[in-house]
Amino acid sequence: MYDYLIVGAGLYGAVFAQQKRAQGARCLVIDRRNHIAGNIFSEKVAGIEVHRYGPHIFHTDKKNVWDYVNRFARFNHFRYSPVACYKGELYNLPFNMNTFVRMWHIHTPKEARDIIERQVAGAGIAQPRNLEEQAISLVGTDVYEKLIKGYTQKQWGRPCRELPAFIIKRLPVRMTFDNNYFNHPYQGIPGEGYTEMVASMLDGTEVRLGVDFLEQREALSGLAEKTVYTGTIDSYFGYRFGQLQYRSLRFETEILDLPNYQGVAGMNFTDAEIPYTRIIEHKHFTFGEGNPEKTVITREYPQSWSPGAEPYYPIGDEVNHQLYKKYRELADRETDTIFGGRLGSYRYMDMDQVIAQAMEDAR
Ligand code: UDP
Repeated sequence: MYDYLIVGAGLYGAVFAQQKRAQGARCLVIDRRNHIAGNIFSEKVAGIEVHRYGPHIFHTDKKNVWDYVNRFARFNHFRYSPVACYKGELYNLPFNMNTFVRMWHIHTPKEARDIIERQVAGAGIAQPRNLEEQAISLVGTDVYEKLIKGYTQKQWGRPCRELPAFIIKRLPVRMTFDNNYFNHPYQGIPGEGYTEMVASMLDGTEVRLGVDFLEQREALSGLAEKTVYTGTIDSYFGYRFGQLQYRSLRFETEILDLPNYQGVAGMNFTDAEIPYTRIIEHKHFTFGEGNPEKTVITREYPQSWSPGAEPYYPIGDEVNHQLYKKYRELADRETDTIFGGRLGSYRYMDMDQVIAQAMEDAR
């Protein structure tokens, strides 16, 4: 009946379906949840668009991906410039001259560089072997102690010395007064929300919600020539080599009778004592649109993951990497199934990477 059964109505599944439909293929998209858009799902709360599974800021350096998403949504000019709160002291992120001026009461890039160099030399790290050493060699001990250590340990549930260095390489360090979190030239938020964008991608494609592929596997895969699986790769193979691990999150959302709570979309709490990593104030993604009297905030609590909980961040350690490789080998031998997206690839991916992967796979 169908050419493709696409398991998962998230970003990967929606882009894949859209591309294939444009080529004339018949697609059926199913999702276990009762909504489309996966973890970029957003919906109105008190008139304000709320990112239900954590904030998603679109950014890319790929012109074709930017042109592609603009066919399905109108993007605003939002730039992510979060603020860090360390025991009541506020600092701009990512690490830049605004951060250093506030931290050391200095004025010039040279002064900032000198301080960082002295601290790096004092720490005596030749070749960074873990996240702590990597962070100190990039920004010195003060920034590490106040803005990285507590946040990272909360986020990952492990001391920085036991975490891989690559996690911190995502963050830019700049000797200019520039609070833009991302270096990419194309950035923004879809004004009508991510759910609308995904709905527009899926326009004309049959979507069945509340359908669990693994519960009715035979019947469902019998409907199509090929399957596209965007769930966790180990679940597809019945966890035969053991379970891949994740870091999970819990969100606490509140509607406040205030026009403006924190003045910024993202406030990171970087000390170890406050149990949440950040507070998102959603209305700032759309410059206050939606409700002039109220605001909606979400506190984000990192959680350990156990089977059945929502998987968010793949764990980038060697044990999980080796396990993934075994599942990948099985997946590569599966000629009628394509595995894609963050869970199918067991990789922390930005939205533009997911879109590029889906476009490539569809080609
Ligand atoms: N990070 C930090 N302090 C911050 C923000 C981020 O130490 O205030 C570190 C932390 O280790 C985190 C990594 O930088 O895991 C990547 O942060 P990013 O904001 O890219 O994470 P996301 O939430 O987007 O995955």
